[in-house]
Amino acid sequence: MPTSHATGTIEVICGSMFSGKTEELIRRLRRAQIAKQRVAIFKPAIDDRYAHDHIVSHNEQKLRSEPVRQANEILEKTRDAQVIGIDEGQFFDNDLIAVSIALAKRGVRVIIAGLDMDYRGVPFEPMPQLMAVAEQVTKAQAICIQCGEPATFTQRLTLARDRVVVGATEMYEARCRKCYVPPEE
Ligand code: ZN
Repeated sequence: MPTSHATGTIEVICGSMFSGKTEELIRRLRRAQIAKQRVAIFKPAIDDRYAHDHIVSHNEQKLRSEPVRQANEILEKTRDAQVIGIDEGQFFDNDLIAVSIALAKRGVRVIIAGLDMDYRGVPFEPMPQLMAVAEQVTKAQAICIQCGEPATFTQRLTLARDRVVVGATEMYEARCRKCYVPPEE
């Protein structure tokens, strides 16, 4: 059943690693559950850092979620959800943009958390596009490990060239713009 006359919205929670994105996502989803709304939670199947069937924040909060391989699967799996939470949005294909818009049109409140930049400081698709079409964007900040100022960059402490090194938080550090050192090309 589609939700009747609800106005759908898209909310984006973005920021660097260790900025508390997932924590904030979990906080919003918990409140929706307390309000007895039907909540569905998804994460990309690539992200198996902790549990396959939960989203987990660095401070150990967790909520049951369903892993999906492609953004389009979310449309099929959520016929009656009023609120849909999506974690690690940057690991999804660009179809996540159209999927989020379609869900919002259906009356769903869509909340997406994800990295807005990769370790090179380059915008991490599809997050920039989602930020553009969202009703509300929250840019969470971490604390710079070097100087203690608010941090928006993710410093990679390894020479690995892959855009994503999954499951290796010790290879990363939050840094402010001043302390962040971009990798050499
Ligand atoms: Zn700093």
